[in-house]
Parts: sequence; C-alpha cells; structure tokens
Amino acid sequence: MRATITLNDLIETRLAEIAEDVWKRHRVLRVNHGDGRVVQLGTAAIWELWSCRANHGSGLCGEPLLTATQASSLTGMPREDGPVENPALPVIEVELLDSGVGGFLIDDLFHASDVRAEFRKVNG
Ligand SMILES: [Zn+2]
Repeated sequence: MRATITLNDLIETRLAEIAEDVWKRHRVLRVNHGDGRVVQLGTAAIWELWSCRANHGSGLCGEPLLTATQASSLTGMPREDGPVENPALPVIEVELLDSGVGGFLIDDLFHASDVRAEFRKVNG
C-alpha cells in the first residue's frame, strides 16, 4: 500500500474521469496512444487519440477526432478562433493534459473530415 498519492495517480484519475465524462456526454471514445488509426494529410501523419461514436443523423460516425493543436499542425493554419473555420460536424470541448503547461486545459476536438476539408481549402 502506498502512503502518498503521486502526481501521476492524480493525472491518471483525472484522465479517466474526463474520458468517462466525454463518453457519457458526447459518445467520444479515448483511444490509447498507438491503438488508433493514423490520420494523414499532405506530408503529415498524426495518431488518432479520440474517436467519435456519436450518431449525427446518418448512423454511427466513427471518425477520428483531432485536437485543435493536431488540426493546426496538419492544416498549418493556427487561428485565434480555431483551426477549422466552418466545421460541418460538431466540435467537442474536452479537457486535455497539456505537458507544456503542466496541467489540464480546455481544448476542442475536430472531426478528421472537417480538418481535411480545411486543409484542401488552405492548400488548394
Ligand atoms: Zn462524429
């Protein structure tokens, strides 16, 4: 038995809570690093860390979801109001662990198809 709770324990607990919450509210599934699909755009490739299992009206969605940071990296278009201008599918707010900041910050998740559309718009 451990006498103290480590920071890692707290982070793991918080991550599990966030994952459960986002699943209950949005049917968004957290994917373990390396277990997901690879989203490729241009010369960039990014691991899927979140997956949409919601029904937006035409059956199970199943698309990979990208964080705002991932989306900006792929499109090369960081924007103050988000990396995707007019997303066709819902944008999901989620708390993410930011290792640069050393804490949890609210971020947005974008559907891979919306990021692809934005990429095509930006790159012609
Ligand atoms: Zn979806």
